[in-house]
Amino acid sequence: MIRRFLSYYVPHKTLFILDFSCAIIVAILELAFPLAVQWFIDSLLPDKNWLIIAYVSVALLLLYLLSTFLQFIVNYWGHKLGINIETDMRKQLFTHVQKQSFRFFDNTKTGHVMSRITNDLFDIGELAHHGPEDLFIAIMTFVGAFWIMFTVNAKIAFFILLIVPLLIALITFVNIRMNQAWKRMYKEIADVNARVEDSVSGVRVVQSFTNENYEISRFKKDNNNFRTAKLKSYWVMSFGTSGIYMMTRFIVLIVLVFGSWLNFTGELKLGELVGFVLYVNVLFKPIDKISALMELYPKGMAGFKRFTELMDTEPEVVDRDNAIEVNGLHGEISFDHVTFGYDNHQTVLHDINLNIKAGETVAFVGPSGAGKTTICSLIPRFYDVNAGNISVDGIDIRDMTKKSLRSNIGIVQQDVFLFTGTLRENIAYGKRHATDEEIAQAAKQAHLQSFIESLPLGYDTQVGERGLKLSGGQKQRIAIARMFLKNPPILILDEATSALDTETEVIIQKALNELAKNRTTLIIAHRLATIKNADRIVVVTEDGIAEQGSHQELIEKNGIFANLHRVQY
Ligand code: ADP
Ligand code: MG
Repeated sequence: MIRRFLSYYVPHKTLFILDFSCAIIVAILELAFPLAVQWFIDSLLPDKNWLIIAYVSVALLLLYLLSTFLQFIVNYWGHKLGINIETDMRKQLFTHVQKQSFRFFDNTKTGHVMSRITNDLFDIGELAHHGPEDLFIAIMTFVGAFWIMFTVNAKIAFFILLIVPLLIALITFVNIRMNQAWKRMYKEIADVNARVEDSVSGVRVVQSFTNENYEISRFKKDNNNFRTAKLKSYWVMSFGTSGIYMMTRFIVLIVLVFGSWLNFTGELKLGELVGFVLYVNVLFKPIDKISALMELYPKGMAGFKRFTELMDTEPEVVDRDNAIEVNGLHGEISFDHVTFGYDNHQTVLHDINLNIKAGETVAFVGPSGAGKTTICSLIPRFYDVNAGNISVDGIDIRDMTKKSLRSNIGIVQQDVFLFTGTLRENIAYGKRHATDEEIAQAAKQAHLQSFIESLPLGYDTQVGERGLKLSGGQKQRIAIARMFLKNPPILILDEATSALDTETEVIIQKALNELAKNRTTLIIAHRLATIKNADRIVVVTEDGIAEQGSHQELIEKNGIFANLHRVQY
C-alpha cells in the first residue's frame, strides 16, 4: 500500500527532490541558529568588538533571509507537489469511474463517488505533501538537536530527554481523543448533508404533504448533534493546545533553573544556557509535526485505501482481446437461449429465444417488472448474459468492441437526460462535431425547429439546472434529434412516449415513426395504440415470452394480449 502510494511521486520526482533538499537546508539552519547565538554570547560579547559583531549580525541576517526564502519555497513547492499528486489521482479516478459498467452504478451511491473525488483526495493530497517530507525532517531535527545538546552539556541534555516521553505521551493522548472527536463530527455532518439533500430534492413531496415543520424538526436534531460533536472536538483541541503549551513552558522553566545551577557551579556558560532554552523550542517542532502526521497519516491512508478499492474494481463488461470493429450493421438481432439476472439470487430472463429481422419493428408489451427493459439493455451490452448468447448480424456481441457495437444502437428512454449547456450542445451529443446544418436538420426532423427558433437565443439557449426548463415532450424531441444525428441501424424506444399527454404524443409519434424508418426498431410501450403498426408484438411476462405475432393475430388468439387490449379500450 505504501509502495503504491509512493509510486504517485514518480512523475513529480524533480519537484520532490527540490522541495526535499530545500527542507533539509531549512532544518540544518534551524539547528544551527541556537549554536550561533550561543557562540555570539560566549565568544563575541566578552571581546566587546563592535565591528565583528556587526559582521556577524549581517551574516546572520543573510542566513535568516535565506532560511525565510527557502521556507517559502518549501511551503509552496510542497503544496504544489501535493496538489499535483491529488490532481493525477482525481483524473485517474474520474476516468476509471467513466469506464465502469452499469452494475457498478446500480450498486454505488453517487454521493460516495463524489466524496471520494473530493474529500478523500483532499486528505490524500495533504498526506502526499506532508508525509515523507515532514517525517524525515522531524526525525532529522529531533536527532540533530539532541546530538548538539549532548555535545554541549550531557547532563542537561539527558535531563530534557527524560521529559520528552511525557510530552510525547501528552501529545499522543490529545491526538487520539482528537481523532475520535473528528470521526464523530464527520459522521454528524454527513447526516446533516444527507438530511439537506433529502429534504431539498424531495421538497415537492414535503410541501404537498405540508410536512415542512416535520422536516425542520428532524433537521434541527441532526444540526444540534453536529454542534455537540463539533464543540466536543474544539474542547479537545483547546485542552490539547493549552496542555502542550503548559508542558513546554514547564520544560523551559526547568531548563532555566537547572541550567542556572550548572552555571553557578561553572559547568555551563551563559550562552550555552540560552542555547538550551532555544533548543527546547527547536525540539517542539518535530514532536508537533510527528503528532500532526499521526492524525494525517490514518486519514490520508484511509482515503487512499478507499481510492485504491475503487481503482481496483475492474469494469465488468470489457472488450475481448480479439474483439472486432463493426460498422454499418444491418441490425438483425438474435437471442439464443439467453438467461440473465442482476444478481445471483434471481434470474430475470430465463432461456429467451428471439429473432428480429433487420429493419423489423418489434414491440414489447407486458406487465411492469417482466423484463422488457432488461432485454433491451442486453443488446448494447450494458450487462453480459449469464448463459446463451446475443448476436447482431450473426456475430456474437461479445466479439465486437463495445464502442463499435454501441455506436450502432440508439436508445430513447422515458427520462431524457440533459446536460448543463446549450441546446446545440445537447442535440450534438448524438454526434459530436456535427455541423450547424446537421443540427438544424435533426431539430427539424424531431419537430423542434419552430420551438427553438422562437427562443431569443435559439440554439444557444442554456438548458439544465440553471437554464431553460423544458417540458417532457420537448426533452423527448431533443432525444429524438440526437438519434437523427447518431443515425444508428438499431433503435430502442423504451417507453419513450409513456409520460406524455395525448396531444404531444401525436407529434412525437410522428417524429418517432420517421426515425424508425429503415432501422431495426424495438419499442417498449405502455399504450397499445402506439404499437398497432409494429411488424410484430412480443408479449413478455415474468415467465418469459408468452405470445408473439401481429396485432391482428394476437387479438384473434384471444390470449394475454387480447385481454390487455380489452382492458385498455
Ligand atoms: P420492465 O421493463 O418489463 O418493467 P425491467 O426489465 O425493468 O422490467 O425489470 C425486470 C426485473 O429486474 C424487475 O424485477 C426489476 O426489479 C429488476 N431490475 C431491473 N433493473 C434492475 C437493476 N438495475 N438491478 C437489479 N434489479 C433490476
Ligand atoms: Mg421498463
